[in-house]
Amino acid sequence: MSEPILKVKDLVYSYPGQKHPALRNISLEVNEASIFGILGPNGGGKSTTFKILSTLLRPQQGEVRICGVDVVRQPSQVRSFLGVVFQAPALDKKLTVEENIYHQGHLYGIRGAALIQKTEALLKRLGLWEKKDEKTENLSGGQKRRLEITKSLIHNPKILILDEPTTGLDPLARREVWNYLKFLREKEKITILVTTHLLDEAEDCDEIALIDKGQVVCCGNPSKLRNDLGGNVVNIKSPHPNELSEKICNQFNLSSRILGKDVRFRPAEMTSFLGFLLRDCSLEYDSFSVGKPTLEDLFIEKTGHRFWDEATSNDLGEGV
Ligand code: ADP
Ligand code: MG
Repeated sequence: MSEPILKVKDLVYSYPGQKHPALRNISLEVNEASIFGILGPNGGGKSTTFKILSTLLRPQQGEVRICGVDVVRQPSQVRSFLGVVFQAPALDKKLTVEENIYHQGHLYGIRGAALIQKTEALLKRLGLWEKKDEKTENLSGGQKRRLEITKSLIHNPKILILDEPTTGLDPLARREVWNYLKFLREKEKITILVTTHLLDEAEDCDEIALIDKGQVVCCGNPSKLRNDLGGNVVNIKSPHPNELSEKICNQFNLSSRILGKDVRFRPAEMTSFLGFLLRDCSLEYDSFSVGKPTLEDLFIEKTGHRFWDEATSNDLGEGV
């Protein structure tokens, strides 16, 4: 296996005046020509990590190497390897598609015939050539995002990093953006690092780092991570979750997790568990579901709380 193209080790970052660090020893490794997702709930530390990787913030501790080059010591060399797409749109709406690319080229010191040639090649290769004279404000949401990604590639970066690129897009446009990212990985062999708070988007990644409260909870291929958890998850909705949990735990010598009105189990032997639930607990639940573990189940298993848990997302109180 070759060296990872991007290596992050023990990254620590605290914003001034904040009680808790935004990043607490984040480490991850990204392989060349893969799509790597940083998946985490709001406030997890995705944008802070992104800003350090894109050389906008200096970490207080830890190391980042991109193509073997240290981000803190040689930021301008690192920037030449990187295509960066920010969360907030950065297109000039009044300019055409082609003019937006020219503008980006100027920022990288590419001019004249070289810029015209490069822009044409890029737009043709990436399927936006027929839109070149279109005013950017007339593009669909998905096309605008694709243009934003395309313009970040004008200087032939090896790695593309994107912070929540599908925020604000409808499901169809989100699909368009993800198909585009996969196309770039396959056809252009670009390594892609993308942050997302959407669990289903993580399934499109080759590898993910699941992060929470500034820490990596686990890393790996998403379907492998789910399969490794194994078995089935039973989620029971009950008006009296504590009593129901105690009754079932006493019967089967199992442990449960109570999240609000939900009681969750991972029984080893499903037939007798479901038999007991239907026969002996039928008055004590509203509904239940049984399924193979999802990434959210994995997140709950590792952190003890839900992916979307407003009440605890800013509270580092109890250990996980
Ligand atoms: P995410 O992108 O995953 O939502 P962020 O990296 O933006 O997470 O935030 C991580 C933590 O750092 C959060 O607790 C957030 O409130 C805090 N934070 C982010 N930006 C700032 C800032 N500019 N000043 C102070 N605290 C910040
Ligand atoms: Mg963010």
